[in-house]
Amino acid sequence: MPPSNPDFFDEGALVAVLTAQPLDRPLDYLAPEGGCLPGAFVEVPLGPRKVLGVVWGPGKGGFDLKKARSIIRVLDVAPMRDEMQEFLRRAADYTLTPMPAMLRLATRAPGLSNPPSMQKIYRLGEGEPSRITDARTRVLEVLRGYGGLGFTLKELSDLAGVTSSVVKGLVTQGAVREEDTPRDMPFARLDPSLPAKSLTEDQQEAAGALREGLRSGTYGTTLLRGVTGSGKTEVYLEAVAEALRQGRQALVLLPEIALTAEFLNRVEVRFGARPAEWHSGVTMTERRRTWKMVGQGGAQMVVGARSALFLPFQNLGLIIVDEEHDTSYKQEDGVLYNARDMAVLRAAICGARVVLASATPSLESWANAEAGKYDRLDLDARYGAAVMPDLAAIDMRAQKLPSNRWISPSLQVAANDRIARGEQVLLFLNRRGYAPTTICRACGHQIGCEHCDARMVEHRFQKRLICHQCGESAPLPTTCPSCGAEDRLAAVGPGVERLAEEATALFPEARIAVLSSDLFGSARALKEQIEEIAQGGADIIIGTQLVAKGHNFPLLTLVGVIDADLGLQGSDLRAAERTFQLMRQVAGRAGRAERRGTALLQTFQPEHPVIRAILAGDENGFWRAEADARRQAGVPPYGRMAGIILSSPDMQVVFDIGEDLARRDGPLRAVGAQVFGPAPAPVARIRGRHRVRLLVKAPKGAALQAAVAAWVAQVRLPPQARLSVDIDPQSFY
Ligand code: ADP
Ligand code: ZN
Repeated sequence: MPPSNPDFFDEGALVAVLTAQPLDRPLDYLAPEGGCLPGAFVEVPLGPRKVLGVVWGPGKGGFDLKKARSIIRVLDVAPMRDEMQEFLRRAADYTLTPMPAMLRLATRAPGLSNPPSMQKIYRLGEGEPSRITDARTRVLEVLRGYGGLGFTLKELSDLAGVTSSVVKGLVTQGAVREEDTPRDMPFARLDPSLPAKSLTEDQQEAAGALREGLRSGTYGTTLLRGVTGSGKTEVYLEAVAEALRQGRQALVLLPEIALTAEFLNRVEVRFGARPAEWHSGVTMTERRRTWKMVGQGGAQMVVGARSALFLPFQNLGLIIVDEEHDTSYKQEDGVLYNARDMAVLRAAICGARVVLASATPSLESWANAEAGKYDRLDLDARYGAAVMPDLAAIDMRAQKLPSNRWISPSLQVAANDRIARGEQVLLFLNRRGYAPTTICRACGHQIGCEHCDARMVEHRFQKRLICHQCGESAPLPTTCPSCGAEDRLAAVGPGVERLAEEATALFPEARIAVLSSDLFGSARALKEQIEEIAQGGADIIIGTQLVAKGHNFPLLTLVGVIDADLGLQGSDLRAAERTFQLMRQVAGRAGRAERRGTALLQTFQPEHPVIRAILAGDENGFWRAEADARRQAGVPPYGRMAGIILSSPDMQVVFDIGEDLARRDGPLRAVGAQVFGPAPAPVARIRGRHRVRLLVKAPKGAALQAAVAAWVAQVRLPPQARLSVDIDPQSFY
């Protein structure tokens, strides 16, 4: 460590250390033997425990220094950069989150304080195998194919498609060399100079603009809008290439783990190696390796979920937020942040570029582009021969459907036609499970969750009732829990499982696959299923919104939306926007390759403005109308909002606090904000806790966070009660 750094803390100097423990400020410690740098990751004593912390700055002092304890040791990881400290501070201010919780987000890698461990790596050896078999040949071919690269036993045997004993056998004979190497190794180099696909004129222009942005070396955000299949991914990979050429790191955020398989392959084709990954499907050791290597420059590119924003990048040049409108970018528990907005914040602090890619941008981003805050690039044509599908409504009022059937005769005819041609059909219904409601035909009782104000959803594959709020599940009852009548319980309404049953009856010859997030034990199983379907392994795909997101099914030519009206109801201010996006994305699944697609929307309200805008393909018309409506209502993005949820096992307690808060609205009125409520939250009870909601609305320029912080600070919460503040709420449950 260079003691020449003017900010270096010599041994014994008093420093402030921020920990992830729920304390209201950093604590003072003495710098350890050898001193430490600002930002150093350290281990400190806290009461009887040792905890992880970061040297946040000089200590405050003001107490008997003889009582000060010493930092135990400095960890073997790169110190946190100033810009990361600033990012955490500003993100904390924005989301009204205590700093320790922010630090927890930034250190979510297990074993950071462990000494670097070793692992065995396998490389090409000098010797020749005594006897050559197919399996052995494959192993040697993999090793030769990748040049000097070494692999772990699992990687090598997977790549070669052999058992690990084959590799071990080759080691014994000296044909493969086994080496001990530190576990946290740099990721394979990505090579931006490998040939790219030859881009169309439109694509070239967009890629050129993104490259220019990167060359400017300053912050900027670009909305890259283009219909599904227009080549947004190809275009932004060229921005990644430019970042790599500049020696800067690139982060690609994706909304769904399921998406990464296809994406990783594309990265490998473009840059010759796979990037680092960061999401819930990554093993603990891989997580630590990624965290450390990102910090040491041993990872040029990370593909990840929203929390990858909090990785310790050393030289971040580019953040891509793919499917930027996706609601999963908003974290809905713990620290309530929107990764899209935090990406912009992080980039602004470190002078990086942001690309927000979407076929159906959020109104927020659309408005920012209109206002000139973001650049905007449009890709209007689909790549190759593919064109937007024909869109038509099926007016359900005119269809004769027996009860408990949801596939209209018109849709059935269209589907049969496609299946007969060897093409695929997607039946889209955004509802997991078998049936959303189970009702007793004797007494009318609906089976609800014991802990939540929610109905239990029947999942027939699992033979259980499941609460989608809290996850509570119970076996399917045979008697009514309310009146005791036997065998009178009936499923009401469709979920994807029930739709599959109907499809099996209507299309007895067809191969049917159900894609719903809860039906797969692992992300890998889901990926495999998607792969298989894409290869033509099913005639009919039945799916929830999982399928709306970017998967490529080349044989798919017909999309039937079972209930296009679902989602139009509801109190959510973004209901229309969400429906518009979802329907357009689902429709966009059809005809991605050479064949022209059709999307049929079953609706009871074909004259609804949202349905009409979807059918007309009038995107700008829809956004303008939606923007006007929101502007008039003074709601986001033309006004600001904060949601407050109070919860407690005691209903009276939460209402009392809520009313108390509503009365003391002085700090809010001072900035022109208004408070609404308290009212029972749409889901009024979750896990046995009663929930009350207040909503704050403020004009666009108001200093909302400071006002809300001062406002809620006025009340003291009783021990069991909790208050959470959600700035820019996305969901209203
Ligand atoms: P988007 O991200 O807009 O949905 P993609 O970048 O995934 O679009 O492109 C859709 C498909 O078309 C992909 O299979 C992609 O490889 C292919 N494609 C797009 N542009 C080109 C191009 N210029 N040359 C070859 N293939 C392309
Ligand atoms: Zn529940």
